Amino acid sequence: MQKMTVAQARQPQSAGEHVRLQGWIRTRRDSKGGFSFLELSDGSSVGNIQIVAEAALPNYESEIKHLSAGCSVTVEGELKASPAKGQATEVHAKAIAVHGWADPETYALQKKRHSFEFLRTLAHLRPRTNTFGAIARVRNCICRSIHNFFQEEGFLYVHAPIITASDCEGAGEMFKVTTLDLANVPKTSSTVDFTQDFFDRPAFLTVSGQLEAEIFACALGKVYTFGPTFRAENSNTSRHLAEFWMVEPEMAFFELADNMDLAERFLKRIFRDVLAQCPDDMQFFNAQIEPTVLSTLEGIIGSDFVRLSYTEAVEILAGSGAKFEFPVAWGHDLQAEHERYLTEQHFSRPVILCDYPRSIKPFYMRVNDDGRTVRAMDILVPRVGEIIGGSQREERLDVMAERMREQKLAPEAYWWYLDLRRYGTVPHSGFGLGLERAVQFVTGMANIRDVIPFPRVPGSADF
Ligand code: ATP
Ligand code: MN
Repeated sequence: MQKMTVAQARQPQSAGEHVRLQGWIRTRRDSKGGFSFLELSDGSSVGNIQIVAEAALPNYESEIKHLSAGCSVTVEGELKASPAKGQATEVHAKAIAVHGWADPETYALQKKRHSFEFLRTLAHLRPRTNTFGAIARVRNCICRSIHNFFQEEGFLYVHAPIITASDCEGAGEMFKVTTLDLANVPKTSSTVDFTQDFFDRPAFLTVSGQLEAEIFACALGKVYTFGPTFRAENSNTSRHLAEFWMVEPEMAFFELADNMDLAERFLKRIFRDVLAQCPDDMQFFNAQIEPTVLSTLEGIIGSDFVRLSYTEAVEILAGSGAKFEFPVAWGHDLQAEHERYLTEQHFSRPVILCDYPRSIKPFYMRVNDDGRTVRAMDILVPRVGEIIGGSQREERLDVMAERMREQKLAPEAYWWYLDLRRYGTVPHSGFGLGLERAVQFVTGMANIRDVIPFPRVPGSADF
């Protein structure tokens, strides 16, 4: 008797084995001939395995004939080649033990299909559905691929803090972290007295690990962070979460072109790994969720990303004749509709946009020789829009000081960041990939709330 997963048991070469399988019933169908077919799932693959349970089993009438979706069981039996189509094997049960019942009157996952909105209210049950099982496996595959890529490239994994006192970047609104009694906040005349707070000053949840990664890159060469980040921006869109995971490589002695090359190879590696390691899940997404995911990923792996300056992008958009809600003009940030026009309609492939106006980008991006633009890069992909944002960092102390004055930032707050430019400064670059945007793109899922186990968005953090 061999304990197996459903994924293993579904392999044709497993036929003939005596196995023990453990999982949850998806469906039961009784045949007139006096036996039942059970579909068993254990989360190891998107496909289930069929169990044939004969009436001769001792608990056939008392238990097996009452099994329904969600019941948990241990099945022992012989794996045989299956005559049915769509499955290589099936189990002829010798014994079925029931661990837990799931009352069909009240168990929510009875129907075959539920809307994703409805399933969001059942974060504790949705991993049991085909779609959310497949998402969990693909998300895991992407994370493994991310670590493998950077480890093989000689990067060090460093951990940026989640609680931070630096309101750096202005990347988004921050969540405050405090132990002050909100009903009785200590005050000095008109403002809150943060010297009585836990950290002796205002503290926040991080919006990015970039600045900390720069510290390590400027000592160790090539590093990456990969952890949760938080943004309190009140954007109720299908591409924004209040808590999301970000991968942020940071490399000393990398210029913008090196940064782009790395990001392109990185994304292609992830897509290749998912296609190779999750073929059944990807077939499922292609058939059930978005009929272009396979062809899009295969197309991307085999072609080069477009590289385009912001200025050229504005010219294309202005001359496109397309109707946009937000007008296009040099000096304004591109909106999602503009980004999607470029990558979906105009080029039909990923686009790396670079050299944005200095006025719309943070102080740490390196100023180009033209004085008007900075070495920023955003990578845009169809359906999702921006998936990566990055830049070459300003390494010149005087230029950075000028940029901080321009953006009304206090240099004292960034003394340690400026020290990196004061002592042994080097050209360096990095970028951030939003993990959930990557999962969204790969799976074709329309809403980012469905590609993270427990989504946090304005007005909702139920589980
Ligand atoms: P956007 O313009 O889409 O709001 P951003 O420019 O604010 O994104 P960056 O600060 O450049 O984003 O962050 C790097 C990456 O993190 C983005 O390219 C995106 O993949 C991801 N990201 C940013 N904000 C969110 C969010 N609220 N939810 C999920 N992913 C996000
Ligand atoms: Mn960005």
